[in-house]
Amino acid sequence: MDLILDSSALLSGKFTSIPNGFDSVLITDEVRTEVSKGRPEKSLVLLLDAGLRVLTPTDKDSAMEAARRTGDLPKLSEADLSVIALALERHTVIVVTDDFAVQNVLSFLHIRFTGGGELGDRTIRETRILKPRCRGCGRFYTDMAMKECPICGSEVRPVRSRDRIR
Ligand SMILES: [Zn+2]
Repeated sequence: MDLILDSSALLSGKFTSIPNGFDSVLITDEVRTEVSKGRPEKSLVLLLDAGLRVLTPTDKDSAMEAARRTGDLPKLSEADLSVIALALERHTVIVVTDDFAVQNVLSFLHIRFTGGGELGDRTIRETRILKPRCRGCGRFYTDMAMKECPICGSEVRPVRSRDRIR
């Protein structure tokens, strides 16, 4: 099992040493850049010395596609997307993030995550995804390309909708 830390996890200051019990503790190159921007890098340097690994995910397309489906893409930074992409590339992983948009996409992808430090405390319980819905009769559809309701003829538009996590 790998542990991936996102920017919010690193900036929380809760990780002053490498947590035990994981095969690797990872961040992405984009997260390192984001975290290094306005802040003293001291804690990050300590973590890197202690074995924190920096990886660059090779492919962000699947992460972007998932974020598009859940409607979170506009809220995600390059660093956020890189975290989701890296999580998709590792086989067993748990992501530490306090960012609800990142949590929502991970949940949609069935990737395990936790809020930094307070385990499960600020963690979302359900995924929100975009579902096409008729503005006239309110029916939900599954075809994302649908523009007009076959029942009442009104406009069909994607809306954010809850999807209970199993
Ligand atoms: Zn309708």
